[in-house]
Amino acid sequence: MATDLYEVLGVSKTATADEIKKAYRKLARELHPDVNPDAAAQERFKQVTAAYEVLSDEKQRAAYDRGGFDEFGGFGANGFDLGDFVNAFFGGTATQRGPRARMTRGQDALIRMRIELSEAVFGVEKEITVDTAIACKTCDATGSASGSELISCSMCKGRGEVSSVQRSFLGDVRTTRACPQCSGFGNVIEHPCTECSGEGRVRTRRNVKVVVPGGVDTGLRLKLSGQSEVGAWGGPAGDLYVEILVNEHPSLKRSGDDLHLQISIPVTAATLGCSVSIPSLDGNKSLKVPAGIQPGTVLSIKNLGATHLRGSGRGDLLVHVMVEVPKDVDTKQKKLLEELAKLRGEEEPTANITTELQNDSFFTKLKDAFGR
Ligand SMILES: [Zn+2]
Ligand SMILES: [Zn+2]
Repeated sequence: MATDLYEVLGVSKTATADEIKKAYRKLARELHPDVNPDAAAQERFKQVTAAYEVLSDEKQRAAYDRGGFDEFGGFGANGFDLGDFVNAFFGGTATQRGPRARMTRGQDALIRMRIELSEAVFGVEKEITVDTAIACKTCDATGSASGSELISCSMCKGRGEVSSVQRSFLGDVRTTRACPQCSGFGNVIEHPCTECSGEGRVRTRRNVKVVVPGGVDTGLRLKLSGQSEVGAWGGPAGDLYVEILVNEHPSLKRSGDDLHLQISIPVTAATLGCSVSIPSLDGNKSLKVPAGIQPGTVLSIKNLGATHLRGSGRGDLLVHVMVEVPKDVDTKQKKLLEELAKLRGEEEPTANITTELQNDSFFTKLKDAFGR
């Protein structure tokens, strides 16, 4: 790296302000990142610009000239270093140089919340306890004990980074790293707040109210903006995501916004038709079963399903009707059934070949989906 600012611009030490300006413009036209994306050219452009910044300013140029270039260029020799100057001048650009801000946004967090099926269907308000961080009240999130302030870091002089130069056969190689004394902030908290150890926030448990809308299902994530931990040193809070887990219901299964219920009725009731009471999330409901219903028939009751999460209205309750064949008939019942068989000409039944499976294939699939 060239270490003489006049050399960098290719001008003599006695160059006039006009000559310096012309030299800089000429070099800038060649080296500007817009026309020359080459990495070496960009590095040179930074040096040229930094050199011009000093030499185009009368006071700075005079100070530089007083420093003398015999001492100039070595790391820390007289506190003036082209590399550091380039870094300082281009701090905060794409190279991410310079001190980093203390104030950062808090982390987002994800927690899972178990709810019952009825709560998922109708919605619910719950309070959950989260481990989080809140702003420190003792120091008003500054991290400094009352009265004390941030002071510029003595190790990096507020730059947030320290450089070192190693000699190699390619020349001097400069490496820059975050300042170990101030962790790259460029400043230090002289008297850290004892409550938060100087971080401006304290760990705590907090209750958060979660409003669960009707219609949510397992896997859905609710976003609670700004309900996660606050950032360090007064930074804004992150977002809290609540992932819903719906407990399995003993009898109702959900599919989309519909609920499914399987019931079985005696063969006599299936033959004659009946009215039965069935459980639903809205309480017991009366279901009319038509005479001659076949096993696996699905009867639907409108609007007893889950609330539509988007839009309005609700899904349906689908009742899968099974038929129970009695296993324990006594002598009298047996006699009556034999009489019935005789009346229906079914004493010597023939096997009818049916083209469609009577069993309810949809519910079987549904059961498979639930692993039952
Ligand atoms: Zn504090
Ligand atoms: Zn430092």
